Amino acid sequence: NANITKRKFDVVIIGAGGSGMRAALELSRAGLNVASLSKVFPTRSHTVAAQGGVSASLGNMSEDNWHYHFYDTIKGSDWLGDQDAIEFMCREAPKVVYELEHFGMPFDRNPDGTIYQRPFGGHTANYGEKPVQRACAAADRTGHAMLHTLYQQNVKAKTNFFVEWMALDLIRDADGDVVGVTALEMETGDLYILEAKTVLLATGGAGRIFAASTNAFINTGDGLGMAARAGIALQDMEFWQFHPTGVAGAGVLLTEGCRGEGAILLNSNGERFMERYAPTLKDLAPRDFVSRSMDQEIKEGRGCGPNKDYVMLKLSHLGADTIHKRLPSVYEIGVNFANVDITKEDIPVVPTIHYQMGGVPTNINGQVITQANGINNAVVNGLYAVGECACVSVHGANRLGTNSLLDLLVFGKAAGRHIVEFNNKNKEHKPLPKDAADRTLERLNQLDKSSDGIYAQALAGDIRTTMQQHAGVFRTQASMDDGVKKIAEIRSRVAGVTLKDKSKVFNTARIEALEVDNLIEVAQATMVSAAARKECRGAHTVYDYEHPADHPEFPLGRNDKEWLRH
Ligand code: FAD
Repeated sequence: NANITKRKFDVVIIGAGGSGMRAALELSRAGLNVASLSKVFPTRSHTVAAQGGVSASLGNMSEDNWHYHFYDTIKGSDWLGDQDAIEFMCREAPKVVYELEHFGMPFDRNPDGTIYQRPFGGHTANYGEKPVQRACAAADRTGHAMLHTLYQQNVKAKTNFFVEWMALDLIRDADGDVVGVTALEMETGDLYILEAKTVLLATGGAGRIFAASTNAFINTGDGLGMAARAGIALQDMEFWQFHPTGVAGAGVLLTEGCRGEGAILLNSNGERFMERYAPTLKDLAPRDFVSRSMDQEIKEGRGCGPNKDYVMLKLSHLGADTIHKRLPSVYEIGVNFANVDITKEDIPVVPTIHYQMGGVPTNINGQVITQANGINNAVVNGLYAVGECACVSVHGANRLGTNSLLDLLVFGKAAGRHIVEFNNKNKEHKPLPKDAADRTLERLNQLDKSSDGIYAQALAGDIRTTMQQHAGVFRTQASMDDGVKKIAEIRSRVAGVTLKDKSKVFNTARIEALEVDNLIEVAQATMVSAAARKECRGAHTVYDYEHPADHPEFPLGRNDKEWLRH
């Protein structure tokens, strides 16, 4: 097609957040020709919003080692995490954090010059005995500091950034190998085929399939949509984490670092109710547990406000000095989004969608594996995935806070290294199939042809409302079954999405329409997977079912009853 320009690279990375940039650094430093695509300027990727910290058992401030971290992560995952992958991540953690320090990351410091670490939910010493200080922090702007550090290193390593470029579809050849992607230059509306020996998906989360979310508007699950359209089955999609402390009504996140620094949750009686639910870890129990406890308080009539539909987070006892030094962004969020001065007043919070545990299945090298069509664990040649869009799976049914930034660093680096080997072995690009751009052209033609129909924003709104109603903190089988039908009905309307303004130049309505194709894939995979899991597990809580009694007994562990469903 005369309107499509072809370009050739060794590697195309889709996404310039923490995971994509950590991988890019390995590749560019090894001399590969790397294209790093991003819908937004790299340092505006969602990693920039990460507040609380990155976990590593440095033991700077309290006794710690990787075995404890390993145990906490498995237990936090509600025993569904891949234990080999978790071992790899926890052992690598100190190394990748010190590397980041050497890249120039401005961590907070202790008086002796070591990296400051704060406690975080579910992170313990001596296998669940007491909270440990494991989250390495740069105030409450850890993601911001990390993303800027990685960007600077990539500029130095001469990574080629393609800013405001949107990848649309993976190109697979007759062998099923991935040989490139189609992409849209958003500024001009021009279409490209980017040939590559390797494509790396690093597109981040998909929290925008829900109505109330801490995620940015760009988090529309594009990598998951691309993989699903290319016939790759997604994994663990029923597991979505609700962060306990989203600002009520605004969705903006207040980091778990608040509770790490000593903030507490209160009900309408002024009671610190987490003492009742989790006597040892209290407000620092894992997120799924705290979210359910909050929901329980609200359901039993001890919620706050006129509708009794939120609880309060109290920080004022920490003192203004600590708040301004350790939690400056949280202070600003309080003023700007809740009209609350947290040094003096409590702030209203509710569990809010935050993180997807599932995604594109990979092994610890970041290679995408497929379970589709009866094939088990076959590697899709030429395709890798890292970061929140990938499922290694180190988070299982529930992620521990600060383990995501760690996941980006460990698996971003590992994937980068493996891709270098893959590219060295595969000297030539495989030929592009004749139908390389067909799927993309069909999608674009449909939008250009459409004269009347539903607008993308309205359809996305329907998806979000449905997911919020049918896949929330507490689920029932009947509601999930209903949700499956509703999402299927919404899907049948996607082909009727219309564009009023058909112009090409920076047409954001066109981008939104293309994103809807991804939202619906993620929403449907989530709804169908949720309806199929007939147990309570991690973040998947269903009224109709019990938590399985037969947890595999982990050799190091104690079966801590307080972490199970109450
Ligand atoms: P992102 O940083 O989201 O980057 C995705 C990239 O993909 C972007 O560059 C985007 O432009 C690009 N992209 C997407 N689609 C396309 C497309 N079609 N074409 C081209 N480019 C595309 N985790 C922790 O461990 N500790 C914390 O303290 C913490 N705090 C958090 C606070 C908030 C408010 C939120 C929402 C999350 C937090 N998390 C935290 C989670 C963590 O920040 C994320 O999981 C992580 O940053 C995701 O990184 P990523 O590299 O996978 O994706």
